[in-house]
Amino acid sequence: MTHKPQRPQPVPTAETRPFWEGAAEGALVLRRCQGCGRLAPPLAPRCPDCLCDTLLAERLSGRVMLKGRTRLHLQPLPGRTGPLTLVECAVFEDPRIVLIALDEQGVTDGALPDAILHLGFSPAEGDAHFAVVLPPEDRA
Ligand SMILES: [Zn+2]
Repeated sequence: MTHKPQRPQPVPTAETRPFWEGAAEGALVLRRCQGCGRLAPPLAPRCPDCLCDTLLAERLSGRVMLKGRTRLHLQPLPGRTGPLTLVECAVFEDPRIVLIALDEQGVTDGALPDAILHLGFSPAEGDAHFAVVLPPEDRA
């Protein structure tokens, strides 16, 4: 019997729980500041602009803009063999928020900076669903 190494699992916190719950439903969920209206990155304990700590979860479009990509040829994750492409994506609703996703289907091959992509989430790996960029036919 072989043990397949598993991708490290996130441990949701009060700040990140809405993001991971949204991911399980295939949706990008961030929290919006009720003081000034800014979206907050998943890890932010309070609004980065006005420091208000009343942030409410909001389901976003999932549209993102390509900001960078890195091709990893060494073993990128436990249980995975390379190469694997990591993509930096700026959230369309607030490009100051940049998320990292996997491109497992070559969606960004040949894509130009600021190309509009759609962020989705993988089937569960352990208990978590991780961000991936989706090919056009999978867009919701
Ligand atoms: Zn604010």
